[in-house]
Amino acid sequence: MCGKIRFAPSPTGYLHEGHLLSALYVWAASHKWNLQVHLRIEDHDRGRARDEYIRSIYEDLAWFGFRWDSQSIQSERESVYRRALESLESRGLVYPCFCSRKQLEEENPKSETGEIVYRGKCLVRREMDADASQPHNLRVVIPDKVIKWHDLRLGDFAENPKLQCGDFPIRDRDGQWTYQFAVCVDDIDEGITHVVRGEDLRNSTARQIALMELLGRSTPPFYLHHGLITDPTGKKLSKREKAHSLRQDRDSGVSAEELLGRVCFKGGLVPSPAPLSLEQALSAALALL
Ligand code: GLU
Repeated sequence: MCGKIRFAPSPTGYLHEGHLLSALYVWAASHKWNLQVHLRIEDHDRGRARDEYIRSIYEDLAWFGFRWDSQSIQSERESVYRRALESLESRGLVYPCFCSRKQLEEENPKSETGEIVYRGKCLVRREMDADASQPHNLRVVIPDKVIKWHDLRLGDFAENPKLQCGDFPIRDRDGQWTYQFAVCVDDIDEGITHVVRGEDLRNSTARQIALMELLGRSTPPFYLHHGLITDPTGKKLSKREKAHSLRQDRDSGVSAEELLGRVCFKGGLVPSPAPLSLEQALSAALALL
């Protein structure tokens, strides 16, 4: 085997149907491209991560029959993130940002997607009035350049992260590593060659490629962003809004085959919600890769 793909859920709730769809794509991709599968628990948000959700990720995946070759958990990798931060700091690429949410809203423009584009106020004033005892996050200085990248499903993109979001936080006000930072450090350090994840994260890709470049990885992974399952109103499923969990179904006696069939149907992989074995569900996902 020459490459490695990861499945990287955040343990901020129980896994839901959207995660199962994503897992099917990840494991199908591992068959297609002959990749090892790495299970990464993305518990960088210590305020929202819970041990019972972590346990449940392992159990739910095993219950469906998914097997993985290696695993990691972000909360145990503090020293790796610290080293990456030091490497950026030593090149002057990190600065504290003291802006409040209100200031961020009022003083910066928004991108087409409604995201705040940070204009670098605290970069400009960093030598002047920065008082590190005040609450602050840490932002990385992102180069002002267009990142060209290819999505194996959606095609070519050319995006400038400076115009999408500007310099973005790598550590938050509570001293926690952000998703963007932890994921880049991990994708480099864990030797990830393929990233398969939901379309909702597509906007993060250019900024992750830019940050990985700053961290020393010049060849980014291959990316594929798959379609999502939406709720009846067309909104994507989310743990925060208490999407119905796989665990609830398991507890009420729904079989793995029924769940796999339902998710493949809702994800547009098969024409009917009839029960499927894991192998059949993986073949259905594989056909769309
Ligand atoms: N942890 C993220 C999530 O649960 C996935 C991150 C990624 O695949 O890059 O949505």
